[in-house]
Amino acid sequence: MAEKKIVKAAGERKAPSGQVKIEGNASGLRIGAVVCWVLAIAMEVVCCMAVAGKFVWFGSQLTTIIIPLVVDMAFVIAGSLMWKKANHIDPASEQNKLKFWLWNNMGVIVACLAFIPVIIYILTKKDLDPKTKKIATAVAAVAFAIAGITSYDFNPVSQEQLQEQYGNADIDVYWVSTGAKYHTHADCQYLDRSTQDSLIVGSIGQAEEAGKMELCKGCYKKDQKAKEANQASGLQSEEVQQEETSQAVEETQTVEENTEVE
Ligand SMILES: [Zn+2]
Repeated sequence: MAEKKIVKAAGERKAPSGQVKIEGNASGLRIGAVVCWVLAIAMEVVCCMAVAGKFVWFGSQLTTIIIPLVVDMAFVIAGSLMWKKANHIDPASEQNKLKFWLWNNMGVIVACLAFIPVIIYILTKKDLDPKTKKIATAVAAVAFAIAGITSYDFNPVSQEQLQEQYGNADIDVYWVSTGAKYHTHADCQYLDRSTQDSLIVGSIGQAEEAGKMELCKGCYKKDQKAKEANQASGLQSEEVQQEETSQAVEETQTVEENTEVE
């Protein structure tokens, strides 16, 4: 594969005109998430009916309870994955604290709604066979734990963080005239290499002027990973620095003691 010639974009460097748009359909993902979550709650209702003994599948009440529990978990997880993805494409602002908290914890809230009522129902149902009750409770608890953990966003992003990361004119981005997106990595696998066009380098504002309105999702993911790795190593180097400083202090003290002896 031939290397593309890199040329500078014409005109002055500019910061993005507004919030940087990441490639992807956030509202579509949010709709998908809500549909999955509604189906999860529906499965919880089916499970409650199985606990009440309204119907029996495969001749076993336990099986009849477990099947909707597992499907419930699958729908909660599918919904949460879509919701988290949407939050990263179109993050909430930190200025509205309640919305920011809700948006980042919605998956966990839904996991609670989709499991706690049915767990309470199983535990309080008096005429349930004790063995069935025990196993059903354990399965529901494990499903709840898995759904809850996978729904939690361990690296939430805010509009302000995106603005800080991409909101200035100094960042180099790359695009080709035929492409629809701009990229933060010149070696991105999604850059269109089929044409003979040279690679254009400029600021995000210039890319927008060239009609490239979205940041490539592959490059965005790479940037986020690099950021997380940086934060992790930043913490480590701080610790190392502290250790070095305390060692230096100890050494100075030893020198002083030695001087006194002489
Ligand atoms: Zn890219």
